[in-house]
Amino acid sequence: MSQQSSYIRPDLADARLAAPRRYRMVVGGKSVDAQSGKLIERESPGHNGKIVGIWPEASADDVKLAIGAAREAFDNGPWPLMSGAERSTIMLRVADRIVARADELALAECLEVGKPITQAKGEILYCADLWTYAAGQARALEGQSHNAIGDDRLGLVLREPIGVVGIITPWNFPFIIASERVPWAIGVGCTVVLKPSELTSGTSIMMAELALEAGLPEGVFNVVTGYGDPAGQTLAEDPRTDMIAFTGSVRVGSHLAEIAARQVKRVGLELGGKGPQIVFADADLDAAADGIAYGVYHNAGQCCISGSRLLVHEDIRDDLLARVLDISRRVPFGDPLNERTKIGAMISRQHLQKVDGYVRAGQSEGAEVLIGGAAESGDGLFFQPTVFAGVRPEMSIAREEIFGPVLSTIGFRTADEAVALANDSEYGLSASVWSTNLENAMQTIRRVRAGRCWINSVIDGTAELPIGGYKKSGVGRELGRYGFDEYSQFKGIHVTFGKPPVWFGG
Ligand code: NAD
Repeated sequence: MSQQSSYIRPDLADARLAAPRRYRMVVGGKSVDAQSGKLIERESPGHNGKIVGIWPEASADDVKLAIGAAREAFDNGPWPLMSGAERSTIMLRVADRIVARADELALAECLEVGKPITQAKGEILYCADLWTYAAGQARALEGQSHNAIGDDRLGLVLREPIGVVGIITPWNFPFIIASERVPWAIGVGCTVVLKPSELTSGTSIMMAELALEAGLPEGVFNVVTGYGDPAGQTLAEDPRTDMIAFTGSVRVGSHLAEIAARQVKRVGLELGGKGPQIVFADADLDAAADGIAYGVYHNAGQCCISGSRLLVHEDIRDDLLARVLDISRRVPFGDPLNERTKIGAMISRQHLQKVDGYVRAGQSEGAEVLIGGAAESGDGLFFQPTVFAGVRPEMSIAREEIFGPVLSTIGFRTADEAVALANDSEYGLSASVWSTNLENAMQTIRRVRAGRCWINSVIDGTAELPIGGYKKSGVGRELGRYGFDEYSQFKGIHVTFGKPPVWFGG
């Protein structure tokens, strides 16, 4: 490590850490514990492992009860039959409750994940907007009619809910990832069993509690907490779920897709990424440097859409890197409860060690650490903002998802070379282009195989635009109008007027 970055030590953190919050699962509208009574304790990664949340450890049987409740609510409940307007009214009330409880939700998310409190607050308010958008669209969902298939025929395409959806989410953005899926699924009329990560389950439970308060009928939105196997796996295996929407690693996603394939069950997968950030020589370098830093350090780099591969034109490489290093040196990281903190903790010691292992591998393969490169001893699991130069495309730090605050820099000379480097990845989740020449930026991004792209920004998002992956980054799309199609069935109805054509006149 050449220079020290700006580490913030916890000041009043202990005083602000409340006693651990004890959660219960939400099944069929009731708060329940696991039948075994087993519990999972979450140690905050940003505060010396202090326990901040306790939730049940569900068994397969507990999950089956939740699936039964969701099945009942779908097959016999009022929800799928309600008008879009009625569903929308309830969903808007959920959004209002999220806003009203934003501070409480943000604190829980901050402590469980270890992310900066100001970031957490922004995320919660963004989620309220996701619920609001989905509520608005829920009363605008339509099918199609075909009025030009013959004078004696009319074609109708009805949109119907797919049924019971099992939603499995990871630990990095628990409230956002659930809010990108649950309102879209229930907006169509589905019922849901959500299984959040065992590391960060609290805010998902709070979301279901708020939804009940808002008037969502019992059984429409259930939350079970527990480990991937058995809790998540049961959601995929049980034939009573009609769909699995999974966000997480390629390893688990492809395993669940195999289970679903055997049952011919629909799957949505949002998996890993290795996002390129292409910076052309005509880019606004201050804006690009800020975006590069944000793109790789946001959520301590534990972000599937991180811009973790910097592809920079050789002419501006040194200039841009100097600016990125300056930000890396000064960006405040450390205590998640400090309102100045921009980079919080890594999710677990095991994950921190994995990130460290990638940095060592990069060094041993010959790449150069320009700044950072080590864990920060302190009151939590912090890893220094880290920039690599001298990276070659075949190195593991250029190919694999590190999921930490680690930037790998590769130079290019032509736009063709930049596109080839960007596409030289098994992933295709996100990509950025930085250029003041809009035609160049557009023509470049059109050739990059990724589902979520930005021009002169990074990690931007809005409810209106779809998200999702190309290649190993996933299957399906969330958000926008497309997101509702994920959770819909489309039924074609052929209507015949007059006497139907004779097949066998006898
Ligand atoms: P993970 O795949 O280990 O776990 C994700 C979820 O799957 C957790 O809830 C876990 O309990 C559950 N799970 C684990 N084993 C299971 C099984 N056998 N059956 C059913 N469920 C099981 O991933 P993670 O470590 O929580 O998250 C990190 C990964 O998630 C990264 O690879 C990252 O790229 C990816 N991710 C992707 C997105 C996206 O939108 N594309 C968003 C966030 C994270």
